[in-house]
Amino acid sequence: MAIPLPSPLRLPDLDFEAMTAEEVIAWAHRFFWPRVCLTCSWQKQSSVLVHMVAELGLRMDTVELDTHLFFRESYETRDQLVDRYQLKLIQPEIPTIAEQHRADGPNLWERDPDRCCHIRKVEPLVNALAPYDAWISGIRRDQSPSRSDTPKVQWSERYQVFKIHPLADWDEQRIWSYVNESDIPYNPLHDAGYRSIGCIPCTRPTRPDEEERAGRWAGSDKLECGIHENAKLERTA
Ligand code: SF4
Repeated sequence: MAIPLPSPLRLPDLDFEAMTAEEVIAWAHRFFWPRVCLTCSWQKQSSVLVHMVAELGLRMDTVELDTHLFFRESYETRDQLVDRYQLKLIQPEIPTIAEQHRADGPNLWERDPDRCCHIRKVEPLVNALAPYDAWISGIRRDQSPSRSDTPKVQWSERYQVFKIHPLADWDEQRIWSYVNESDIPYNPLHDAGYRSIGCIPCTRPTRPDEEERAGRWAGSDKLECGIHENAKLERTA
């Protein structure tokens, strides 16, 4: 069924749900290139997607939201993937930690993590996506209840792009099977119990009996950084 969307671009009448991850990526590249990009946070989904794009013989801009608060292992994984797949990295400007401390006081992530994510992730992503019509992201339905209804393709009012989720119907086991069978570099923190990996102050290891993203903002009711919300953006002062 065609998705009715407020975009000048009209999508073809395709059954995205029935398409494989590779088919979704190939279609997105065909339909949107060069105005399509991939975002990577250097978790296991990033490893799968950059490998898949390369296996398909495609090139795609790779947007990294470097909050300056990633783990050393995440930066090392990025460097390995960039080197192996010759990724063209797009790195939007993000305030330094010192600038944030001056503007909002020290350790904003402890006092107001929503504002911290807004400044360090959401607003930079809005700017980074401006040149594109489509954004490919690695989020999956089984990561958490807040992602359980993730469609494979949707319109984002916030970013004014089509949001593409080729791995929406993959589970964690399938991700690992693909990574291992294809021998793809991956973030070694996953082997240390970090099933989901973000910024250092807001990430802890996750037990096997917990939800995959339970180690993110643990001890608070915050579930998401906000970049995957599609409502129009309230700009910060
Ligand atoms: Fe700030 Fe934590 Fe969000 Fe990173 S995950 S941007 S440190 S609140």
